Amino acid sequence: MDIQIENLCKRYTSGGKTINALDDVTLTIPANKIFTLLGPSGCGKTTLLRCIVGLESPDSGEIRIGGETVWSGGNNIYVPPEKRGLGMVFQSYAIWPHMTVFDNVAYPLQTRKTDRAEIRRRVAKTLSFVQLEGFEDRPATKLSGGQQQRVALARALVAEPKVILFDEPLSNLDAKLREETRKDLRVFLTELGITAVYVTHDRIEALALSDLIAVMRNGRIIEKGTPRDIYFHSEHNFVADFIGRTNLIDGVVKSREADATTVECPLGEVRCASQADIAPGDKVVLSLRPEFLHIAEDGAAPEDGTANRITGRIDSLVFVGEAMEGEVLVGDTRLFVKVRPDSELKEGDAVSMTVTPAHCLLLTK
Ligand code: ATP
Repeated sequence: MDIQIENLCKRYTSGGKTINALDDVTLTIPANKIFTLLGPSGCGKTTLLRCIVGLESPDSGEIRIGGETVWSGGNNIYVPPEKRGLGMVFQSYAIWPHMTVFDNVAYPLQTRKTDRAEIRRRVAKTLSFVQLEGFEDRPATKLSGGQQQRVALARALVAEPKVILFDEPLSNLDAKLREETRKDLRVFLTELGITAVYVTHDRIEALALSDLIAVMRNGRIIEKGTPRDIYFHSEHNFVADFIGRTNLIDGVVKSREADATTVECPLGEVRCASQADIAPGDKVVLSLRPEFLHIAEDGAAPEDGTANRITGRIDSLVFVGEAMEGEVLVGDTRLFVKVRPDSELKEGDAVSMTVTPAHCLLLTK
């Protein structure tokens, strides 16, 4: 089932100040995809999720789920949460500690007065799906954090909803478990072929889990695309910076040829991937991701006729295990760089870096 959101607005007033938690949001969440709302704290992600579920009433706009209008300001329609056919998994697993795993998962069916044999069949099927067979009689509290999270997922899945909503469901897990559960969750959801709307402020989680990401800021959706689109071809400074560490450098377009655009900036003249909507004289922001700035270990950059060459001096270098992270000073401009963890480079070394035009992204918004 797809979800269509049109011109949705939600304002809160607190302490005499009005906050546009949702500022004219229009969005289509396609059926059977994992769709993530990503953005910093306070950007309106949870408010949008709560409006979709029906726990919050917007001020204006419309929400349709699978073609059915569940909320409309203009037509005065409000379908209550229990009639929207959605499942939900929250940040705190919200499983009942005094109940067994079976009772936790069975709960949504019991409240619907489903037949006992049918409850047993569906709970068994769902527990097998989340790989918790044999845990039926275990008290919910005698489970690990990851297992509790899977109970919460099973409880949301047992009623076989067409859409499932997640509000930061992994944020209570430690880093390693979060990574494992994220992988499992993607497999589960993809196998189920269900529409999943996932809220997070964690960019790695969004990149690893999603089919599509919508980046929110100040109550608005500012960019939408696949994880790769958002990472490699973002249009906004804010998005490029939020989705992964990058170097943002102000510049002006000097010339445009068929295969590249040349930008004048504090690093010198940099050849960038060509972009149709850019003309000489335009102000732009150049985005250079550290992983694409190749530092030559012997001081000489490898021969590549098309690559940009930038020289500077290493200002800092920190060993972080899988890499060395540091800063190179090019004149007054500081570039964040990554180097192999076994590199011999040290602070104060003069370095020559190359970066191909394809990895020099021009941002215009
Ligand atoms: P987080 O990641 O911190 O949960 P979020 O992106 O989910 O943030 P929301 O919880 O949707 O953000 O909040 C959006 C804005 O609306 C914030 O500025 C928040 O302070 C405000 N807000 C949310 N709920 C209320 C409320 N009940 N009363 C007043 N302001 C609210």
